[in-house]
Amino acid sequence: MSANILDGKQVAAELIEDIRQAVQHRLATGRRAPGLAMILVGDNPASRVYVSNKERACARSGIRSFLHILAPDTGQSDLLDLIQTLNADPEVDGILVQLPLPTQIDSGAVIEHIDPAKDADGFHPYNMGRLALSLPGFRPCTPRGIMTLLERTGLPLAGSDAVIIGRSNIVGRPMALELLRVDATVTVCHSRTRDLDRKVAGADIVVAAVGRAQFVAGDWIKRGATVIDVGMNHTAAGTLVGDVDFAGASRRAAWITPVPGGVGPMTVATLLQNTLDSAAARDPLENR
Ligand code: NAP
Repeated sequence: MSANILDGKQVAAELIEDIRQAVQHRLATGRRAPGLAMILVGDNPASRVYVSNKERACARSGIRSFLHILAPDTGQSDLLDLIQTLNADPEVDGILVQLPLPTQIDSGAVIEHIDPAKDADGFHPYNMGRLALSLPGFRPCTPRGIMTLLERTGLPLAGSDAVIIGRSNIVGRPMALELLRVDATVTVCHSRTRDLDRKVAGADIVVAAVGRAQFVAGDWIKRGATVIDVGMNHTAAGTLVGDVDFAGASRRAAWITPVPGGVGPMTVATLLQNTLDSAAARDPLENR
């Protein structure tokens, strides 16, 4: 058996095309293009790549992007001042601060400073709280993107047993809330979890968000399972590998995301979707 590929690259391209058409419709009906402000502090090479991918996706969809690059030794108060300016800027619908931030800056304080109504990443405690309560609001891009990928592929989720490996605020935790929302039975695993392999072996859906190359062995996977690999690990050879042994898992799973070309493109497309939603929420009532 060889798993079907959950083609994040393809589904993300479809989503970006939908967004492009929605932006064109906004312009044709006298509304402005949505705007996304991105802040990059320092010169982390991976962060630079992520930000330029997001800029390119904005350009493809017609969303305006405003990139602010700050020096590595930027102080927290200068960053908060910039966020305050963007909070007040009527051309800006979404504000993204690329993580990780240099150690002199408290990322929690920075996230809380973003206007929750412009929180395109969905990391603000207000929006996380709304997700926890199943209320509408900005949803973190990676988990929301995974849900879009599963839903557009038409995979059944209600009643399934899901195991998430990782409990970070940006992936594992909100992923658990997303899967609960669609009636999966969710187990969240982490570094203190016992018998991880046995837990994974019982799962219809496995989401791996650990940050360790090929950490999930192929023979842990239940036959017919759906495997979502969030991990992005850079090898010494300069390639990108996931958290799952792709070849081994593909022999047992029914569906699997590749790395690259799975979750990553969905995360970027979802950021645009959140920005478009934000612009729509800011339109005058008669235009919504
Ligand atoms: P993170 O904040 O470092 O969290 C890693 C999680 O893995 C933690 O909850 C940790 O448990 C758990 N963990 C570590 N060792 C473990 C073990 N031996 N057994 C079970 N659990 C273990 O990472 P993250 O930000 O969630 O990112 C995870 C991966 O996803 C990274 O490779 C990152 O680059 C990638 N990522 C990809 C995208 C995308 O768009 N594709 C987006 C975001 C992140 P504790 O909580 O107990 O420490």
